[in-house]
Formats: sequence, C-alpha cells, structure tokens
Amino acid sequence: MTEYAGPLPTPTIDTAPFWEHCRKHELRMQKCLDCGHVRYPASVICPKCYSENSEWASMSGKGTIYSWVVFHQAYGAFFAGIVPYAVAIVELAEGPRMLTNIIACPLDEIDIGMPVEVAFEDITAEFALPKFRPLGKP
Ligand SMILES: [Zn+2]
Repeated sequence: MTEYAGPLPTPTIDTAPFWEHCRKHELRMQKCLDCGHVRYPASVICPKCYSENSEWASMSGKGTIYSWVVFHQAYGAFFAGIVPYAVAIVELAEGPRMLTNIIACPLDEIDIGMPVEVAFEDITAEFALPKFRPLGKP
C-alpha cells in the first residue's frame, strides 16, 4: 500500500465504532433497539423516539445513487492527483444516506437511481473508506 496523503477520518466517541467496523470491511450503523430506526451519522440518541438504546447493525452494503457531482477542481495537492472524481449521496437499502465516492465506473455512466454496493478502500492500517461501485461489478 502506498502512503496515503489524503484527509483522514477523525473519529469521535460516537463515530469510532463505525470506523472500526469499516476497517474490518463491515458497514454497520446504529439501529435503535426501541423503534428500529437506522441512523447515520452516529448519535447518542435516536432522532425518531429519543431512545438511547441501539446496536451496531450490519447493513446490506447496497443502495442507489440519490445525487452526485463530479469534482474537476482540486482543493489541495492530494486532490490534484485524483481529479476528476465523483462525490455522491448514496441511499442505502436500510434508509440512511451517505456522502461517499463512486468508483469503478466511468464518470459519464453515473446516474441517479443507479444500484451500487459498498467497496472498502484501505487507505491506512487504521482506516478503510466506504466507497460505492456499480452493483455486481468487480
Ligand atoms: Zn428509536
């Protein structure tokens, strides 16, 4: 693995479990044990029923593109080496929407509603980023 020079996640006490699961290539999110609401990003209480009871439930890793853009402008030296790249909001099958990147797909083929699946990118020994690729493609 070449040395990663991009920005790194900054886990908090609430988000550290999310990143630890990502490191193991598991997409997990907090699921309320009282009403079943799946929430992202992580928080102390459920925004639907205010319960503090939750578990880190496994997500299917599948969803659809809700919205997307292609960045051509490089905001920093790291990004100058990767433009153009796609930033998207992916709506998971379980409901939450994630800000992420679309990979392994020609930029002109990305579209709203496209089925995608999570593909973890190991960036350091501590972190793997949950990105998304077209469903069923390697
Ligand atoms: Zn709840």
